[in-house]
Amino acid sequence: MSGSRFRRVLLKISGESLMGDKPYGIDVDVVQQIALEIKDVQEAGTQVGVVVGGGNIWRGATAEEAGMERATADYAGMLATIINGLALQDALEKVGVTTRTQSAVTVQAVAEPYIRRRAIRHMEKGRAVVFAAGSGNPYVTTDTAAALRGVEIGAEVLLMAKNNVDGIYEADPHLHPGAQRYPTLSYMDALNKRLDVMDSTALTLCMENGLPIIVFDLFIAGSLQRILMGDDVGTLVNETGSGEPVSSAQRTEGAP
Ligand code: UDP
Repeated sequence: MSGSRFRRVLLKISGESLMGDKPYGIDVDVVQQIALEIKDVQEAGTQVGVVVGGGNIWRGATAEEAGMERATADYAGMLATIINGLALQDALEKVGVTTRTQSAVTVQAVAEPYIRRRAIRHMEKGRAVVFAAGSGNPYVTTDTAAALRGVEIGAEVLLMAKNNVDGIYEADPHLHPGAQRYPTLSYMDALNKRLDVMDSTALTLCMENGLPIIVFDLFIAGSLQRILMGDDVGTLVNETGSGEPVSSAQRTEGAP
């Protein structure tokens, strides 16, 4: 299929999305499912870069609470994202998507180093690029890495995949079933209301560089396709977002 409204996108997948129902680690079937969604994006004529998180294996902040030095704990977290990146690369290649993994921390036996122009060239040649090891720096998250890579590679949108919520809500919809979803939101609103979108460093980076963000549920089948086709899916965060929430009745309208 073709007709995507985007030429190039940056997809952020959290480590937790790869866990499925497991309490920890990687569910290979789920990774396969994600790979198929990414394949659809490519077949729609859109170049894809993917930043993968590591929270299913390791979180620096949690290890710090347990007494570990923060920077070391964060480097361990970056290594966790490399494990996830390799799992995703494997699944993508198995479904026929030629993939290159680039790591922000040098691990030359398993991944290319991150080289911006090379990553762009891979995408122009029709390869998916998995960006592993986050930004390569401690004290930030893979959300920040996603914003950074998105801006660097000239992505037109940052697609923030969630695994248990289909957009940004006034309050956690699992705890507050009546909470309403924002179809659109401005960067400033997202920052000021301290909504659980992504960390503020990442949000600020997107705002300062005019990179729109779409927050959506990766596991509602066809969501990515619908986004590419221009449907209003999830929550769009940009300069002009209205910040008017909609009720859940409106939310289900047009859902697949
Ligand atoms: N991390 C880091 N720098 C980065 C990206 C990640 O130090 O640029 C570390 C940090 O410790 C983080 C861990 O890697 O907790 C896993 O990444 P993240 O928590 O962002 O994964 P996600 O929540 O997306 O699964």
